[in-house]
Amino acid sequence: MKRKDFIKKSIIGLTTIPIVANSCVPAPSEDISSTTSSTAPNIISGKKYKWKMVTTWPPNFPVLGVGATKFADWVKEMSAGRIDIKVYGGGELVPPLETFGAVSGGVAEMGSSCAYYWAGKTPAAQFFAAVPFGMNAQQLTSWMLSGGAYEKWKNLYANFNLVPFLAGNTGVQMGGWFNKEINSVEDLKGLKMRIPGIAGKVLEKAGGAAVLVAGGEIYTSLERGVIDATEWLHPFHDSKMGFHKISKYYYTPGWHEPGTQLELIINKKIYDSLPKDLQAILWAGSMNLHTWLLAEFDAQNRIYYQQLLQEDGIQIKTFPDDVLQTLKQYTEEAVEELIGDDAFSREVYDSYRKFQKEINAWSSMSEKAYYNKIMK
Ligand code: CA
Repeated sequence: MKRKDFIKKSIIGLTTIPIVANSCVPAPSEDISSTTSSTAPNIISGKKYKWKMVTTWPPNFPVLGVGATKFADWVKEMSAGRIDIKVYGGGELVPPLETFGAVSGGVAEMGSSCAYYWAGKTPAAQFFAAVPFGMNAQQLTSWMLSGGAYEKWKNLYANFNLVPFLAGNTGVQMGGWFNKEINSVEDLKGLKMRIPGIAGKVLEKAGGAAVLVAGGEIYTSLERGVIDATEWLHPFHDSKMGFHKISKYYYTPGWHEPGTQLELIINKKIYDSLPKDLQAILWAGSMNLHTWLLAEFDAQNRIYYQQLLQEDGIQIKTFPDDVLQTLKQYTEEAVEELIGDDAFSREVYDSYRKFQKEINAWSSMSEKAYYNKIMK
């Protein structure tokens, strides 16, 4: 896909949703020791299901949209054709950001998306996607599958007649494209940057201006100076977007999205009525996707990173420590404001923070030590 087509198809970015606090009462905790629903009939029936999957991605969008199609193919194969899912790109059946409501209401049986898009419906949703200065992909998966988070996520989404599934992770993103160096917090003052969600609020606390720009308009906005900087993803997608042609500096690390988890959602009433073997197949398909998506992003990024350095001559800069420290403090304030008095969001955030603190200690002694000492 060429840059022009890529941008044209990029109706929305990975984070484009303004955050609106809302209250949400979680459903009573349910047993998730099994991945299948306890009410599911325990018989194998020959009944065939033809499903629609709506997505927040443009049709066949590299990695994200392609992954949704791969999931559909895997499920069809594993179920011997009993579940046949047709994937729709964002806007083909419903607008991208109506995915959640469309699946909840049964317009489509399932969807492919990212939980932080729904922070306006329930602030706790973002913790199942990405938090600035939060956990990376490996840590987040650990919290989700072995730290009790998946149960909380299921309880939260049950209020919306949805069942969530893990569906991949972008890995740590890049810090974005800038046309001036960021040497101190002062350099963020007055900076107009396309950086959505909580990170946008953090930038504003630092004196900058977070500008919401749809994916397809970022390049032009940056080229014409409507914005001074933008974040998107990492080398593969960013190269396709062409930002290296109009920006001087590519910054690391992506403090704002240290490992954004994607989701699949299924209408809960429909899911609960499925036989257990099909429920298990859907879970297995989502785990396939969860593994494949990060693998694919990393594999592509290893190539496009070198290309940016060697062919495009891009300068990669690292944010100064004091800038990151200040942004981290502002992040804590922004998250507190967002949670407000929503008890369930606080419960999820407390669990997130506790797990992050504990696993950071271990990761520092294992992964980080290996990176620092061996992967130089
Ligand atoms: Ca991003």
